[in-house]
Formats: sequence, C-alpha cells, structure tokens
Amino acid sequence: LHNLYQDLKGQLRVYCRVRPLNAKEKRIGDKEAMRVVDGTTLEVRSTGDIFEFDGIFGSSESQADVFEDCSDLAQSAMDGQSVTVFCYGITGAGKTYTMYGTPEEDGLAQRMFGELFAQVDTIPQANVTIMGSMMELYNNYLVDLLRPIDWQGRQNPPLSLKLDKSGTVQVEGLAREPAKDPEELKAVFQRGLEQRSVAENAMNAESSRSHVIFTVFLTQDVISQQGGVERITSKLHFCDLGGCERLKKTEVEQDRDRRLEAIEINKSLSALGDVIEAIAKKRKYIPYRNHKLTQLLQDALGGNAKALMYVNCSPAQSSIKETVTALKLANRAKRI
Ligand code: ADP
Ligand code: MG
Repeated sequence: LHNLYQDLKGQLRVYCRVRPLNAKEKRIGDKEAMRVVDGTTLEVRSTGDIFEFDGIFGSSESQADVFEDCSDLAQSAMDGQSVTVFCYGITGAGKTYTMYGTPEEDGLAQRMFGELFAQVDTIPQANVTIMGSMMELYNNYLVDLLRPIDWQGRQNPPLSLKLDKSGTVQVEGLAREPAKDPEELKAVFQRGLEQRSVAENAMNAESSRSHVIFTVFLTQDVISQQGGVERITSKLHFCDLGGCERLKKTEVEQDRDRRLEAIEINKSLSALGDVIEAIAKKRKYIPYRNHKLTQLLQDALGGNAKALMYVNCSPAQSSIKETVTALKLANRAKRI
C-alpha cells in the first residue's frame, strides 16, 4: 500500500519554500511580494503571476514541517529506490538552510538520517550498511570533501567519473565513510561541511557558486525465506545547488573569476533543468551526459528513482525580478 500511494504521488515532486523577510530587508522597508494563496498556489503580488507546485511552505513553516512532507523518502530508499533531493533558487533564498540547516537547527538532510536509521531498526533480520560521501562541484572541478585539500584546492589523485559495467556513472576515488547511527552520519556530514570552507578559501571561490552533494549509500543484505541472501542497494543524494541568479553587469565587467563561475553554474543548472524536463515529459532520451552534475545524479534521477525539488524563494520585493526568473525556470520541471 505504501508504494502504491507513493507511485500515485509520482517520481518527481516540486515544492516551493518562501523564507521570511530577513533583518536587513526589514530595515530597509522591503515589502513581501509573494502571497501563498493555498497549499499549492503562489502569487507574485506585483506581477500577478501565479505558480503551481506540489506543495508550498510559507515563511511561518518550520524545518520540521518541511521534513514531514518528505520523510517517506527514507522508506523509498529502504525499498531499494534511489532518491535525490535538491534545492534550487537564487543566493540567499534559503537553499542551504532547507537542505543542511544551521548549527542550531537540523536541515532536511540530518532529519532524513534519523528517519533512515529508524527504518533500519524496524528490520532486524537484515544486515544493513550505511555510508556517507560528500563532494563539491565548482567550476566543473570535483572535490572530495572527506579527503584533504591542498593549498590550491586540488586533490591527488583528482576525482574522476567512470562508467561501470552496468553503464552507471561512478566517482572514482570518492571516500565513503561508514556510520552506524545518525550521530555518526551527522559527524561525517559535518566534517564535509568544514572542508567546504577550506576548499572555498583555497580556490578563492564564491560558495554560492558551487554545488555540494552529500550521498548516503544504503546496502541491505536480507535473508530470504529460502535462506539465501538478497542484496538491495540504493542511494540518497542531498544536493545544495549553487545560486541560479544572473551576474550583475558590474560584476561581469570587473571580475573575470566571478564571470567564469557564473557561466559554469548556469551551464550546469540548465543541464539539470533539461534532464528534469525530459524526465517530467517522459522522453525516451534523457541528456545526462551534458554536464558532470547530471552525470553524478544520473542513477538517482529518472528510471526507478525519486526526485524532490525545492524552489527556494525570498519574499522580498527588492529581488522579485530574479525570483520570478527562478520560478519560471523551475516550472520547467513540472509535469505537463
Ligand atoms: P542560500 O543557500 O539559498 O544562498 P541560505 O540558506 O544561506 O541561502 O539562507 C540565507 C539566510 O536566510 C541564512 O541566514 C538563513 O539562515 C536564512 N533563512 C533561509 N531560509 C530561512 C527560513 N525559512 N527561516 C528562517 N531563516 C531562513
Ligand atoms: Mg547556500
């Protein structure tokens, strides 16, 4: 019954989350330009644009509220389905907050770790292994956030993408750290987050211009009724995507590095948009190979996998133009 219910809900859900006005916006007298009409409809006051989603979380909704609507994905992973959760939106819209939380409050990823181990506890007859890995994709360069990084932000050997025998993309050399409870998995995750800032400093990068993917590898060896062992494997990807805003004209003129970052991030996000659109429209050909980002997520997007996308929005009138552009792009992901 559980799976039937989930199948009805579809392989790809798109949620919208609008954050509250922040202190700075309030100080300058910024206005809320978004109105949550109902659980699935968002209105942009100034333009009258209406956007429909599978669900909308307004500024008063907590991390726990957001998690409640997706906690079933832990069950999907236990059932052997791979899962990808990602956040899309402009810088400052709340992507990292939603996915990874703050030091004070867990985000969706850590909450899902807890749920996953709770599910594992319900099947004592299985031998379950859980491992975590974390990587950052910046300017098309992949960094393993669980391995040391040199002063130039490089690693030796660098991570590379290889196709395995079944045609699935594997990241060669990526560290996988085992965890036997949610606290251990959180510790792995925390270590990766700390390395993220080390990498940023080394590369003189803008954190909002990189993608970070934390992956949980789940392996279950289940004793079948005949006494044999059946192995079920799945993955959960938690992606904190780079900001989708366009570069400001002054930035384009002044700073070559920022310009290259922006070009690369836009390339990767449009490749992701193309893949999601192709999946949503049930096309035969899904263009995974157009970017490393989509290759990395290939086996957890499409096919038997489940994907959940959050479109994060600032409610502020001052950034409404960028926000509407992001909403329109995100709308490509919706089924037609
Ligand atoms: P992004 O990753 O999209 O650039 P962040 O997640 O870093 O944006 O959010 C920007 C700021 O807004 C952070 O200080 C974050 O804590 C805060 N914030 C984001 N979303 C919310 C929310 N729903 N409720 C409260 N604070 C939020
Ligand atoms: Mg962020």
